[in-house]
This record gives sequence, C-alpha cells and structure tokens, in this order.
Amino acid sequence: MRALPLAAALAILPMPLAAQGQAAAAPPAPPRDTTPPGAYFGVTEYRLAREKLTLDTDTRGFTVYIIGDMEGLASVVRNATEMRPVDRGGTPQHERFRQELTDEVNAVIAGARAAGATQFIVNEGHGGTLFRNVLPDELDPAAILIRGYPKPIVMSTGLNPRVDAMMIVGAHANAGSPGVISHSFAFDSFTVNGRQLNETGIAAFIGGEMGIPMILAAGDDALTSETREMLGPLETVTVKTVFSGSAAAALSPARVHGLLRAAAARAVRRARAGQLRPLVLEKPYHVRLCLRRGYVRDDWVRTTVGRLPGMADGGSPGCFAYTTSSAEEVGNLLNEIEWTVLKP
Ligand SMILES: [Zn+2]
Repeated sequence: MRALPLAAALAILPMPLAAQGQAAAAPPAPPRDTTPPGAYFGVTEYRLAREKLTLDTDTRGFTVYIIGDMEGLASVVRNATEMRPVDRGGTPQHERFRQELTDEVNAVIAGARAAGATQFIVNEGHGGTLFRNVLPDELDPAAILIRGYPKPIVMSTGLNPRVDAMMIVGAHANAGSPGVISHSFAFDSFTVNGRQLNETGIAAFIGGEMGIPMILAAGDDALTSETREMLGPLETVTVKTVFSGSAAAALSPARVHGLLRAAAARAVRRARAGQLRPLVLEKPYHVRLCLRRGYVRDDWVRTTVGRLPGMADGGSPGCFAYTTSSAEEVGNLLNEIEWTVLKP
C-alpha cells in the first residue's frame, strides 16, 4: 500500500553514533504529529464516504471498483526511486511509473468493458504520494477516481453494496512473503479468524461482507499465488517473477497490458455467471495483528495503537486482538493505525 515517509522512517531508526557520544548533536527529530484519528475530518468517516459514493454508483449495469497500488506494476522493483516523487525524497522515474499505473488501470477497464461492465470506480491504493499517483488526464474518461489523503479505509474508500466486483492492479505480496517490496500496512502479521490476509485479502474481506467478490489481482508471482490461496480461483496476472525484494524477471509493460485486458474480461464474465464468490468469514471476526518490528520499538506508536477503542492485548509485545462483527470496522481500525504512523 504505502511507503513510509523518510522523516518517519528516520525517526524510528536507532542512532548508534549519538548513543556512543561520538557524534556532534544530531539534528532534533521533527515534532511528532499526535493528532488522534477522530480529530481530523476524513480519517474515520467511513460511513459517510460509503453513503456519498453510493449516490455515485449506478444501480443498473455492472460496476467495477479498481484499486491501484504500485509495487506490483510491470517492471517496478524499487520503492525509493520508482514509487516516490522528488518532493518526497524520490526520483523523476516516479512519473514513468505513474503512467504505468494509469495504463494498467485503463487496461483492466477496457477488458471489463468488453465483457459488459458499465461503470468504473478507481481508488488510489499507494501512499508514496499520499494517494495521488494515477494521471487524471490519461485515465479512461468513464472512470471515477478517488485520490488524496486522508480518506476513510484507505484501500476500500466508499466501497458500497452497489459495486458488483473488485479488482486490484499493482498489488504486492504479504509481509514476510518473498515478494518485491512485500509488506502489509503497518503489520508483520494480520489474521482474521486465524487466516492470514494480505492487503488484497483485507480489501476482499471488506467487500465480501457487502457481497462483492475480488475477481482479479495483478502483481508478482508471490502475490498471485498467495492471493489465490487466500481467496480461491480469482483471475490473476503475474507481471514479474521475483528474484529478491528488489529484483524480478519482468514482462514488458505492453505485454502486461494485453494480459490485463484479457484477464479483466474473463473475470467479469465469470463474475456475471456467478462463478466468483465474495470472501465471507464467520462472525464475530477475531482479528489478531502484530505491528512491524520498527513500530514495536517505538513506544509512542505501540502505546497509541494499543489504546485505540476495542484493542486488547495480543499476547506478545506489539501484538493486539480485536473482535467485531463488522469488516468495515476492521478497515477503519487499520486506517486509524495508518493515521498513527502516516500523516499528511
Ligand atoms: Zn503500495
């Protein structure tokens, strides 16, 4: 989903030189933004976002909700240069991969349309530019684009039961998986009822409760194989074969666009035939999450997350348990944790 901003990443690194007293005084860390999630409009207002987007969602025809992340785009292998803009410490290459993201979204829209889909809602899923990566002028004009931050339930903003199916492009593998830039939000581990869910799986869980199936996922081979295991036989497009967290054997973007068009058409046909089912888990949902190690060492993050409403001790440091009968509430909880570690 996102790249930690440089300042925040530096703030959680240990400072061995300073600790040894050998360095001149380190520059003071920027003051931490401790605004609680409920105090900033747009972080937790997920019901309002759902109600508003429902009004924009057609009741006739077939509506596809497309999440656009970046780590799993064709040829992407390196976060610091390819997914981060210059003004946030990245390089001009980011613009090339914004184009790639836009091309891949347009490819699935074209394929879905060819199979009868009539409406397209695109939700920005990558936080390196605070969810402003798709090139609006280049996007298929039929699409509605959700962009910017903060937004409620970042990767499933405004999702509502009028949506017929979800897709994700540029997706990456789960934290701990051998994928390109694999991670999961702010976690080293995230389970619902004991099932590991990657970011694609979490979106499918939130959509699944509304009866919406995740029908297509595109990314590296680690992402596509683990997502089929988590969600069943959805359509997948493997755009690259992983060699390390920052290297892969990649198909050309043009080839990937063709594969995406064909897979999106198949996915919509299968969904319309009732062959792709939503992910439905038994209620109440027993969520267990463990923060990334870097955050576990950060006393403020660890204790702030532990004080979020409904959080219970998860049995080991930085791990928490949460029980609810609403998948949207789980999404909101994730958003509150994101807000704690990622500020505009
Ligand atoms: Zn991302």
